[in-house]
Amino acid sequence: MSPDHPTTAAPELSVVVPAFNEAAGIVAFLERLLGSLHACCSDFEIWLVDDGSRDATWEQVRAAQERIPQLRGLRFTRNFGKEAAILAGLRHAQGRAVIVMDADGQHPPSLVPQMLELWRAGPAQIVAAQKIARDGDGWKARFNAWFFNGLMRILTGLDLSGASDFRLLDRRVVDALLAFPEKVRFFRGMTVWTGFVTKQLGFEVAPRIAGSTQWSTAQLTRLAVTAITAYSAKPLGMIFRLGLLGMVAAGLLLVQALYSWYSGIAVSGWTSLTVVVLFFGSATLLSLGVLGAYLAQIFDEIKRRPEFLVLERLNDQRDDR
Ligand code: UDP
Ligand code: MG
Repeated sequence: MSPDHPTTAAPELSVVVPAFNEAAGIVAFLERLLGSLHACCSDFEIWLVDDGSRDATWEQVRAAQERIPQLRGLRFTRNFGKEAAILAGLRHAQGRAVIVMDADGQHPPSLVPQMLELWRAGPAQIVAAQKIARDGDGWKARFNAWFFNGLMRILTGLDLSGASDFRLLDRRVVDALLAFPEKVRFFRGMTVWTGFVTKQLGFEVAPRIAGSTQWSTAQLTRLAVTAITAYSAKPLGMIFRLGLLGMVAAGLLLVQALYSWYSGIAVSGWTSLTVVVLFFGSATLLSLGVLGAYLAQIFDEIKRRPEFLVLERLNDQRDDR
């Protein structure tokens, strides 16, 4: 255990909840969560991270805190994204176990006691809730998930279908994640990468309590690019293989071109020439794009800017983070 987390003050469980524009459902969610927590755990804290909401989420949280002494909060200066909100929650959480879950009720709080039980029973350091049905998701969310997971599987070899951010982490896993020096984070993939013993627990994605999903397709695409470039250099290897393939194809075409020239039919072959130019033109641009994505990743890393900025804190005992 790191000196940052004194054993005496550490609760058994911290629940980290990233929230962006969840004013309509946040109170109902907290009530449900509290109901589940009181049933299984006497010593817990809830870290609600308001990721720069533009609605009344923070006001609702502040009001709820007067009734819920275990509720603590962080409010970002602006929207920094769910990954940053999770990171902030993990940095502040003191629990010997930490559960990360969505604020919209899609990750059912009723699963929390079971997750905690599995962790208490040992020896797993991660309890991962797996989506077994996505009935609560719309067709767009399902398509996005299918596309995203397919891309991840092809490009990084990591199978994330069914994986969710709803997971319990032992303190050892949290400390391991926080010790990563890199800034770009992909919570789901990084926890798998750590290799700690994992137990899985199936759950059905519930409908949102209120509001609609905050992810646009553009944001999801950005997350996919970040996730892939942060997790694996496989696409760079793919470019290399594409280049090799191109060289073989070019060699064959050279033979054909020389043959045509010797046979005196050199003017034909316009079609094949066009195909080759188009193919290699687009392959070159695509490859530059892939290189660009990695370059952008390195650029973001070396700037060493903070991952988020905190505007307000609620019920936080330590102000040094
Ligand atoms: N969220 C966040 N920052 C964002 C977008 C979303 O903290 O920029 C939170 C959101 O409030 C919710 C969770 O991340 O608690 C999942 O978001 P959402 O329900 O929109 O995504 P989906 O369920 O479709 O994956
Ligand atoms: Mg949701």
